[in-house]
Amino acid sequence: GHPVFTDLPETVFESMSRLARQHGAINLGQGFPDGQGPDDVRAAAARALESVSNQYPPMMGLPSLRTAIAAHYRHHQGLDLDPEREVMVTSGATEALAGALMALVRPGDEVVLFEPMYDAYLPLVRRAGGVPRFVTLKPPHFRIEEAALAAVFSERTRLVLLNNPLNPSATVFGADDLGLLAAFCRRFEAIAICDEVWEHVIFDGRRHLPLMALPGMRERTVKIGSAGKIFSLTGWKVGFVMAAEPLMRVLSRAHQFLTFTTPPNLQEAVAYGLGKDDAYFEGMRADLARSRNRLAAGLSRIGFTVLPSAGTYFLTVDLAGLADDDVAFCQRIASEHGVAAIPVSAFYAQGSVKTLARFCFAKADDTLDAAVERLAGLFRAA
Ligand code: PMP
Ligand code: GLN
Repeated sequence: GHPVFTDLPETVFESMSRLARQHGAINLGQGFPDGQGPDDVRAAAARALESVSNQYPPMMGLPSLRTAIAAHYRHHQGLDLDPEREVMVTSGATEALAGALMALVRPGDEVVLFEPMYDAYLPLVRRAGGVPRFVTLKPPHFRIEEAALAAVFSERTRLVLLNNPLNPSATVFGADDLGLLAAFCRRFEAIAICDEVWEHVIFDGRRHLPLMALPGMRERTVKIGSAGKIFSLTGWKVGFVMAAEPLMRVLSRAHQFLTFTTPPNLQEAVAYGLGKDDAYFEGMRADLARSRNRLAAGLSRIGFTVLPSAGTYFLTVDLAGLADDDVAFCQRIASEHGVAAIPVSAFYAQGSVKTLARFCFAKADDTLDAAVERLAGLFRAA
């Protein structure tokens, strides 16, 4: 056979996690919390495994979950979604992304991508026949600028794929950045896919602004969410897609031939969890912000330049003066210092940024402290 994905490297999350295992390193690379998520949500999944049917649930998702998704986004983000026509359940945000690109990109269509970008985006855009047009966001602020949008948008632009909050740079885009983007989407009649899996994981009193809520965007935005991030249960792979009915009809055609559906007990548990009170969401944010502060303080104290983190499970450090190749740096700290991180260059297609490393702080205090202690050796040796 002639597999077409063979020219792709293994994902950086897989290769860094393997390196971490080989060297017994503390894994602050791949983004997953070391906790078990909320007990009541896991208990709801266990109960549902016994009480609901384990045969195929409806293709669009269990009605209970679709209703809960619409209610959740009304409460938290003021969105008005019809659970019957504008909400679909997918097997993780990853399926939602793959399906949306497969459904909406025609071969030769231009797709605007913001780098740094989540590592699945570019292979999926290419596989769908899309022609990527990159907007490069640069440290330390990673802001969207009008001139950069003007350089890539045209009549050939079919869609734009944005991740907000942005993994790996932990940037939260607000009304300014999103307003600029929305203006270009309206002007060139482009569809926007907004990957908002980190929407609840934002700190310091910020509020998430869904791109769909901006003027003129309701009819042209595909919003993607993930229960994995909302409940700190990254293995669950329950995602959601929200879009106006004409777009949703097309998206559901891709979904029906990708996974068709998603395990019913997990859907039932997510339906329960989405109704948790505000205290749960505030508590999760407060815990993660504390962990962020702890790791940021520790890394700064030993000598790292830590960039701001406004959301996600991640913070990045600037390696300038320490290393000029983040991949080699991350291999070295895993093998010699026993801490795994992710080289941010893996999120840049054009090689413009090579001196940032991403650390996951969604870990117990002892784990974060031990990692800082190990990394201190880097600066003592220097
Ligand atoms: N998009 C982004 C930006 C992510 O960070 C992740 C996972 N970390 C995903 C999508 C995938 O989400 P899921 O596990 O629900 O497929
Ligand atoms: N989204 C996770 C991260 O950014 C990793 C997901 C994966 O391993 N593919 O670390």
